[in-house]
Amino acid sequence: MPPHDRTMALLEDLIAIDSVNPSLVPGARGEAEISRRVAAECTAAGLSVEVHEVAPGRPNVVAVLEGPRPGPTLMFCGHVDTVGVAGMDQPFRPVYRDGRLYGRGAQDMKAGLAAMLGAARQIAEQGGCGRGRLVVAAVVDEEHASIGAEALAATWRADAAVVTEPTDLDIAVAHKGFEWIDIVTHGRAAHGSRPRDGRDAILRMGRVLGRLEGLDRQLQAGRAHALLGTASLHASLIGGGRELSSYPERCSVQIERRTLPGEPVGAGLEEVRGILEALRRDDAEFGGEARLVFGRAAFELAPAHRLPERLARAIESAGHQPRLVGMSFWSDASILSAAGTPTVLFGPGGAGLHSPDEYVRVDDVRVCREALVALAGDVLG
Ligand SMILES: [Zn+2]
Repeated sequence: MPPHDRTMALLEDLIAIDSVNPSLVPGARGEAEISRRVAAECTAAGLSVEVHEVAPGRPNVVAVLEGPRPGPTLMFCGHVDTVGVAGMDQPFRPVYRDGRLYGRGAQDMKAGLAAMLGAARQIAEQGGCGRGRLVVAAVVDEEHASIGAEALAATWRADAAVVTEPTDLDIAVAHKGFEWIDIVTHGRAAHGSRPRDGRDAILRMGRVLGRLEGLDRQLQAGRAHALLGTASLHASLIGGGRELSSYPERCSVQIERRTLPGEPVGAGLEEVRGILEALRRDDAEFGGEARLVFGRAAFELAPAHRLPERLARAIESAGHQPRLVGMSFWSDASILSAAGTPTVLFGPGGAGLHSPDEYVRVDDVRVCREALVALAGDVLG
């Protein structure tokens, strides 16, 4: 039986609203309806609500609970979009089983969203903030290009922010960044029987791939971040050639390079350009180039910042012993943090994120909410 508190009821509502990201899945519903639900929840809780349409039909919701005295700004932030639902029978039907709640977005990250909205409601009902302000931000498009977080970071700063992505109730103070790099090698098309005329773009890409494998070995044997391990790369997509009997004039490979804090976006591209340069030095006929398709920086909270320690106390008071961890996935924390807001990730546990069997642990949602209430009591008390 579902333990029916208001936060779980809200979470069921949020899962039942299709908010698949339309940039990820063409024609998908997007965030308009779920943002309306979030705004209604914040209004009912007594917060003042701003809705900001970041792109047509894609509104961010920012709700503020202002204290009577000046003080710090504490932000809770979560994204309202989800990935697609391929392979799921009833993705928008929340189902309880064995202390878990299943459904698309249950873990990533409607549970975190419900926990932070539940916390805001509880804080408001308990008399609000003593000082400063609580900002609750629900943003669009995290699963694609994070236009929501970018719009939020352009107008809102906070002294501390908690992004309630799923962390198994641990406190994540770092995650990796990434670069998507497109590499093309050039050849010359010719009949397959005429080796003097043809230049094989695919075999030339083979040279690139060999060097990339070496670079990956080097990265994975190199500097390891205490929480994140090493940087790495892998080849994701490859294409080239027209038919069996011809020399291919073009081959393309897209790689992903995962980066560590301290590596700027573009570091991976420079490495690849270095490889192409070296291959050109070996063989004047070698032709190839690389460009950055998309990249996002890694994230790390300054080690001396007190937010993790204060949040740890808050989580302990809610009955859980958290660890300091790094996450492997990228998140909006990178954008908030780069814009000057000290940020951590903290959210409920579960499994199956981005897969058909996504669930969140019901007890964790309550612990997450209670911990956020306690943190606000500490920071804004
Ligand atoms: Zn997420």
